[in-house]
Amino acid sequence: PKARVVVVGGGYGGAIAAKYLKLADPELRVTLIERNPVYVSCPLSNEVLSGERNMESLTFDYRGLSRRGIAVMGDEIVEIDPEQRFVRGKGGAVYNYDKLILSPGVSFDFSSIDGMSAELADSTLPHAWKAGPQTLLLRRQLEAMPDGGVCAIVAPPNPFRCPPGPYERAAQIALYFSHHKPKSKVMIYDAKDAFSKQGLFQAAWKEHYGDMIEWVPAAAGGNIEAIDADSMTLVGPVEDFEADVINLIPPQRAAELAVNNGLVDDSGWCPVNQQTFESTLHSDIYVIGDAAMAGAMPKSGYAANSQGKVCAMAVAAAINGQPAPAPSYVNTCYSILAPDHGISVAGVYELKDGEIVSVPGAGGLSAADADARTRAIEVQFAIGWYRNITADMFT
Ligand code: FAD
Repeated sequence: PKARVVVVGGGYGGAIAAKYLKLADPELRVTLIERNPVYVSCPLSNEVLSGERNMESLTFDYRGLSRRGIAVMGDEIVEIDPEQRFVRGKGGAVYNYDKLILSPGVSFDFSSIDGMSAELADSTLPHAWKAGPQTLLLRRQLEAMPDGGVCAIVAPPNPFRCPPGPYERAAQIALYFSHHKPKSKVMIYDAKDAFSKQGLFQAAWKEHYGDMIEWVPAAAGGNIEAIDADSMTLVGPVEDFEADVINLIPPQRAAELAVNNGLVDDSGWCPVNQQTFESTLHSDIYVIGDAAMAGAMPKSGYAANSQGKVCAMAVAAAINGQPAPAPSYVNTCYSILAPDHGISVAGVYELKDGEIVSVPGAGGLSAADADARTRAIEVQFAIGWYRNITADMFT
């Protein structure tokens, strides 16, 4: 029988890797292991906070991948044995592999902010950086907040999942406030002094929401060091800030599965051969998506999709005794700032001396002086992108 490939994590990277392995070589025995029965998309989940979208439109099941002949297993993997080449599930089930692909996403470093914890995130201070119950909790808190209140977003240091995400979120929350609580404010306290698509974001905030959104960079004391959940106070290096709703997005690293099984280096992320995504720490284990260090590529769903395809082709080639193909990689991140205002950043990437680098002259940002019609069309592009990429993953 043909080789056995196990993929752990059925999100933006793993669902694609499993599907494209089967497309590359239908005889491969492909198993996809995912701990949740359904997948909830982070992309477009900020729109749930404004009320423009519901959770159903973000939720997908794995029947489409099963129909393709992929064995989809509901299990949480807790152990990887790179010598004997098996992974073990929470209940003790063992899955043998010839090649293992991991796309487990990120985990959160709560300890770097004094007073913060995973329990607080679940109960009162949702990060909502994995779409699901915390997204709805944050939405309910915004609904319960009095007009004139303050929602504070604490933005994490680089690198983190979805570089434009916190700033898109600020706009979606302001969209809700502008309709329902116009005296309220969105404060962004940032661990950084610059962010993705900054000029485009700041112009759009002003245009649609006036002074409702305020950004405090690290240089102005925005890098939050501690939190007091009882008094809803954020402790900064210069002054403290009170808020009615706090969305603290913690610093990030690779998912627990990678951290606990010797697949990360001192940075907290997984070093890989950037042509194949094979781990440089353990052979026959590949890491894609947010958990991996992929040169110039950002941690995005589209990047994970692109990496899933490159990795699937490299794994199929290796199993069939062929050299890894020359890869090409792509990413676009759309942000929806108002119902008729979208912006994007796009990149095309190539391998150079073993590193993923941007192709000079390719990609770029939405124009700073684009007209209203172009901004409105970019919202339609964002929604079209989402429909296409989720169909690519789940059908
Ligand atoms: P995920 O998609 O998170 O998938 C990981 C999967 O692995 C999960 O289903 C998890 O349950 C499973 N898993 C983890 N550990 C185990 C285990 N031990 N056993 C079994 N299963 C396990 N990206 C874009 O391209 N465009 C956007 O517009 C965009 N918007 C975003 C908005 C927000 C608010 C956020 C938070 C993110 C956004 N992103 C966007 C980023 C995108 O969500 C991530 O980059 C993408 O999900 C990464 O894919 P992944 O496969 O690495 O991880």
